[in-house]
Amino acid sequence: MDYVYAPGKNHLFVPGPVNIPEPVLRAMNRNNEDYRSPAVPALTKTLLEDVKKIFKSTTGTTFLIPTTGTGAWESALTNTLSPGDRIVSFLIGQFSLLWIDQQQRLNFNVDVVESDWGQGANLDVLESKLATDGGHTIKAICIVHNETATGVTNDLSKVRFLLDKYKHPALLLVDGVSSICALDFRMDEWGVDVALTGSQKALSLPTGLGIICASPKALEASKTSKSVKVFFDWKDYLKFYNLGTYWPYTPSIQLLYGLRAALDLLFEEGLDNVIARHSRLGKATRLAVEAWGLKNCTQKEEWFSDTVTAVLVPSYIDSAEIVRRAWKRYNLSLGLGLNKVAGKVFRIGHLGNLNELQLLGCLAGVEMVLKDVGYPVKLGSGVAAASAYLQNNIPLIPSRI
Ligand code: PLP
Repeated sequence: MDYVYAPGKNHLFVPGPVNIPEPVLRAMNRNNEDYRSPAVPALTKTLLEDVKKIFKSTTGTTFLIPTTGTGAWESALTNTLSPGDRIVSFLIGQFSLLWIDQQQRLNFNVDVVESDWGQGANLDVLESKLATDGGHTIKAICIVHNETATGVTNDLSKVRFLLDKYKHPALLLVDGVSSICALDFRMDEWGVDVALTGSQKALSLPTGLGIICASPKALEASKTSKSVKVFFDWKDYLKFYNLGTYWPYTPSIQLLYGLRAALDLLFEEGLDNVIARHSRLGKATRLAVEAWGLKNCTQKEEWFSDTVTAVLVPSYIDSAEIVRRAWKRYNLSLGLGLNKVAGKVFRIGHLGNLNELQLLGCLAGVEMVLKDVGYPVKLGSGVAAASAYLQNNIPLIPSRI
């Protein structure tokens, strides 16, 4: 039973945690078991191998750590870098801000490149820093692939292009928390050194697993990194990988079975189809926003995110009131505006195990809330724009052809 009951299903449209599919819920509904029996290592082995596919990596080493995205950040930083190392980090919204705060508290020398919230990472500034760093003082570039607070997606291939152009050896550390399993992500092709995500995002699992992929270069760097780490130390994991038992501490058995089921569903749909579905959901949402006469917080099309849309509201409306009313009146959960954009934007998360008709329900709900708070929206306008696009673009369901 819900802690605060409402009839019917909650329309969960925050950009994580997201809806968990029924087969995954069922797969996790099981007893504990001895993780030192042969069964759990055998399961773990398949997971470590298969999870590489969501990063599009064949050369990476994967870690499944009982933590959240924040812990995965810490694991990426402390295993590859040493205190005092210079890193270039882009500040474009609340999650990049939090990562930078963590980098500073871990005593790295953070060279912050700031943009307006609603813009992507400023790669011109990166280029000038790389061009003038002949001595290779920059040890890593840290970038959030998809800034969940503003709905901005950065082009990682351009970052790789610049690193290659200046033959710069800096590590490329990427937060893929709201992109991996939803947006095009190519770890090996883009020369990403550490990529990470959290289970409650597009993988559509409960919170609790930090999923990390490290390139051979990142693993090499981990041999000499001097940052203090204990719980997150990759060496402990690697030791147990070599022993074939896999776990330096107790894993969450249920989450592992859930991950197995989640990966099976993703592979059944096909990763490229999953990405195409997110692209339709993103486009349909943006068409609705346009039909309502509202603006996207993301300032240029090249940064539009297919996993989350941050919608700017007129100054006479408090966007937090939209989120409150959506939940209280329509059982619809939308994302709040965070920090600098608090009160100014509300967010529609459209990632994970979600289909087009669910999205139309959300858009209908948003229209009613907009009317509730005094915005002159024509009911049905956004739904009409989105459904006209979707009706022309939804393919047959891949597993039902
Ligand atoms: N990075 C991004 C892009 C996020 O959206 C989030 C959470 O929403 C985080 C990191 C932090 O993840 P967690 O809350 O799982 O620690």
